[in-house]
Amino acid sequence: MSVDFESEQYRKHREAGEILQTVRAEAIERIEPGVSHLEVAEHVEGRIRELGAEPAFPMNISIDEEAAHATPTAGDDETFGEEMINIDIGVHIDGYIADAAITVDFSGHDELVEASEAALNAAVETVEPGVSTDLLGDIIGRTIEGYGFNPVVNLTGHGLGHWEQHAAPNIPNRRVSQGVELDVGDVIAIEPFATDGRGKVTEGSDEEIFALDEEGSVRDRGARQALDQITGTFRTLPFATRWLDVARPEMALRRLNRQDIVHGYPVLKEQEGYYVSQKEHTVVLTEDGCEVTTRA
Ligand code: MN
Ligand code: MN
Repeated sequence: MSVDFESEQYRKHREAGEILQTVRAEAIERIEPGVSHLEVAEHVEGRIRELGAEPAFPMNISIDEEAAHATPTAGDDETFGEEMINIDIGVHIDGYIADAAITVDFSGHDELVEASEAALNAAVETVEPGVSTDLLGDIIGRTIEGYGFNPVVNLTGHGLGHWEQHAAPNIPNRRVSQGVELDVGDVIAIEPFATDGRGKVTEGSDEEIFALDEEGSVRDRGARQALDQITGTFRTLPFATRWLDVARPEMALRRLNRQDIVHGYPVLKEQEGYYVSQKEHTVVLTEDGCEVTTRA
């Protein structure tokens, strides 16, 4: 099969990846104890727009035992501490997505940070057409275990479709019995999570990130306004409560949620007292390996 890597689709994936690299560097520069989560998230999301793209999802800022899906609320006054901070950033241009994450650590768990980095590097070095996702999972899992930690087994990497943040196939973070063979032209996000906990996250009660399930009709004015913004701007990509330009966004989302028009993404976390590190890149499969769009 021949793939045109200069086509609009791949050019936009690549450009989204470059913008992601820029805003990730700016985020890392800003994050330090005492700085506000909201300030960093708004800076990153604002800069993505300034640079000619859109956030593919709200900036995730997950602390210590949190692994994913935490993002600041409107008016959030939380500040960074001496913690393990996972930042996960998504950028899209016309629905072509770049997705990458990194751990910024002030908690002193160097080896845990290294474990997810090494696992990602090993997977990226292995990726090429014909490689199966179960091999990647095996490599990721074994690399993390080699550091004496556990991979988070119920979080996975994924394909990146057009306007689709979590497309097939899953890229597991441990050995699984069956995989999918990757093909030239595939765009996937590989994202190992390492933990000193048991390796399984559960859903917390907080939900600040939502996405459209199925359009429907709503009578309430605020909910209808919110739905117009969702279908017109975010479409099928995740968004934050604080992104809605309606008078009472929480109320609007509760109504939309009750009618199964949107669903929330609860914060996913390990048990309290444990830590989770994360490293993620987006890669495009080339004839003989891969191109990492989110790495310089
Ligand atoms: Mn991500
Ligand atoms: Mn991802």
